[in-house]
Amino acid sequence: MTEENLRAVLRVDEKTKTFTPIAHNLSAEKAEAKVNELKTEDVQAQVLEQTSRHKGRSVKSCELCKNAAENLSQKATTGLVEEEDPEPESGQ
Ligand SMILES: [Zn+2]
Repeated sequence: MTEENLRAVLRVDEKTKTFTPIAHNLSAEKAEAKVNELKTEDVQAQVLEQTSRHKGRSVKSCELCKNAAENLSQKATTGLVEEEDPEPESGQ
C-alpha cells in the first residue's frame, strides 16, 4: 500500500458556523461519497485533506480532527480567510 492523501469529513452547521468531524482517514473517493450522502440529507459538509494518517480509531476522540474543526469554526465566525488581499482598488 502506498501512502495516499487521506481525507477527513466535517459536518458544517450553517446556523452556528461550527464544524463537527464525522469521519477521518478516508480515501478521496470515500470522502466524496460521504459528502454526497450528506448532501442528500441537506447537510453541508467539508472535506479536509489530512497531512498524515490520524492515529485515533474514533473520529470523536481524535485531537487532530478536533483542532481542525475548531480552526475552521473560528475562521467561519470571524470571516477571516488566510489569503493576501491587497487593496482591491488602488487605481493606478
Ligand atoms: Zn482525525
